Amino acid sequence: MGFGNLASAWSAGLRALRGGPAASETLAQVVNDSFSGMVVIDSGGIVIAASRIACDLLNEGRPLDGQRAQRVLPRDMHLAVGQVLAETTPATETPLAIAVVHHGSETDDRLVLQFAVTASVVGTSERVACLNFWDVTERRRAEERLSFLATHDPLTGSLSRTGFCNAINERFETERGRAEGLAVFAIDLARFKPVNDALGHAHGDILLKQVVSRLRATGAQFVARLGGHAFAVAHPGLSQAEAAQFCEIVQDRLVAPYQLGPHRAIVGADIGISHSAVSGFDPDQLLSHADMALNVARAMAGKGYAAFSPEMDENLRARQELETEMQQAMERGEISLMFQPQASLDDGRIIGVEALMRWMHPDLGAVSPDRFIPIAEETGKIVELGRWILEAACREVATWPGELKLSVNISPIQFELIDVVAEVKEALTRSGLPAHRLDVEITEGIFVSNVRATIEALQKLRNLGVGIALDDFGTGYSSLGYLGRLPIDKIKIDQSFVKKLPGDQQSGVIIRAVMMLSEALNKIVIAEGIETADQAWMLKMMGCKVGQGYHFGRPRTATEMRASLVERAAPSLPASA
Ligand code: C2E
Ligand code: MG
Ligand code: MG
Repeated sequence: MGFGNLASAWSAGLRALRGGPAASETLAQVVNDSFSGMVVIDSGGIVIAASRIACDLLNEGRPLDGQRAQRVLPRDMHLAVGQVLAETTPATETPLAIAVVHHGSETDDRLVLQFAVTASVVGTSERVACLNFWDVTERRRAEERLSFLATHDPLTGSLSRTGFCNAINERFETERGRAEGLAVFAIDLARFKPVNDALGHAHGDILLKQVVSRLRATGAQFVARLGGHAFAVAHPGLSQAEAAQFCEIVQDRLVAPYQLGPHRAIVGADIGISHSAVSGFDPDQLLSHADMALNVARAMAGKGYAAFSPEMDENLRARQELETEMQQAMERGEISLMFQPQASLDDGRIIGVEALMRWMHPDLGAVSPDRFIPIAEETGKIVELGRWILEAACREVATWPGELKLSVNISPIQFELIDVVAEVKEALTRSGLPAHRLDVEITEGIFVSNVRATIEALQKLRNLGVGIALDDFGTGYSSLGYLGRLPIDKIKIDQSFVKKLPGDQQSGVIIRAVMMLSEALNKIVIAEGIETADQAWMLKMMGCKVGQGYHFGRPRTATEMRASLVERAAPSLPASA
């Protein structure tokens, strides 16, 4: 029954009351049997009727009739009754008060009652109040539980992402407190998974709870678990310099050993810091900046934490822009192919070319492969781009007279995602380029995952007659030791060593060591990035047979390449095809 209906039922009842004792008894029974708590109070503040439920809820089952309302009703209810009675005159509409009141002394068992008070004027001046109430304790608890779940992490009891953002918003909604500043720390536990896998989820859960306790013990004002092994902490009142110091404290505490039942476990902690002085007070922004800094911290070997700087955001934005643009670069014909000559160091003769990809964006201009290839690898776009350049380069070089070799770079991601051997076969068949004229350039990254499958694929390529060159040698995880075990034919010494010649002794020593080993292993060495005649001469003296670099020619278009071939060598070469 709604409040309005209740009020009119009560008014009707009162009219009946005036009809005599029988009606009065009927009404008393109606009140008594009511499903809700119902109490009728006269203008003198005395209870004149009460339902059974009202007696149960307010007076432990004892009758309420004849009692002073002030004594038996919760304070707020009584005040509402008084107010409604005071406002009621024969001229006014039936006033209504609705509210929620907590009843009982023990905090845990307190009842939550929702109530409504209506008043009626009986006859010319007699006023009575009808108080109707419901026990909404359970509903309230369920609501509170839901709201707790929405703002807290059920496992650790710390704040959730939503709760964390709400807390920051509430704290800094107004200018008040903003002057003291706020530092936010995004924390990622390193090596948590092995602990979880080895000791089981129950112990993993204990560790996560202990992490929250340790974070709280730092005195940080807000502590949140964002999911998995990601946490966040917000601490007002720290300057940027103090935030870095606080970060070290947090890190020290988190990396100390954890006692998990009979086991001890150790995890690492990478931390990204953002500060309101740079990122403002928007919690989403603070968290996103702290996250960017966390990514930088993760990639850094060493201290494992980094503070956000605006360049990180710019880099990310530029990267995202490139990622979007790259989706259509192929269709828009912005990707093209260049060839850089490889020369014999003995006589400077061009013996091969490396195919290099180019991206000319209408607004951004030429985008360097060092920028777009990593993005293409991350997005998987490298598969499409790599297929295109392999086909296009083979087709082009196959039309050139002579026996120039072609080198094509193949990314580790291509080996991971597709059947490179099949693609190479297809490109060779379609173009008619003999397999022995093709080299595939790989980097050491290829041996990071699924080594056996990779070696198998390389072996199959070699069986076809295709050569394998290890690019950028010396920059990765290079160990001279494993060179002998890999199915490779050529080693390309990275340009960073060549660049430092002839002055840098160490580079000279490294190059000599690579030369000696390659000779022993029967592998050809190509020196990359030769820019001067001195460098070419020195490398030749060290026993290097092949060189590549601006000294012999910059990357050129197919047309330019043909023209230079004509110029340099055989008079039989046609000017174009
Ligand atoms: P890379 O395969 O080591 O290619 C050699 C890079 O060194 C080329 O840069 C080339 O232009 C540059 N270079 C050659 N000689 C000199 C020199 O004397 N001095 C200097 N300073 N640089 C020289 P580029 O074309 O910018 O390519 C950079 C990297 O991007 C390549 O390094 C390769 O890792 C990647 N890349 C380029 N094209 C492709 C491709 O089609 N597929 C894949 N997967 N990667 C590619
Ligand atoms: Mg290369
Ligand atoms: Mg290279």
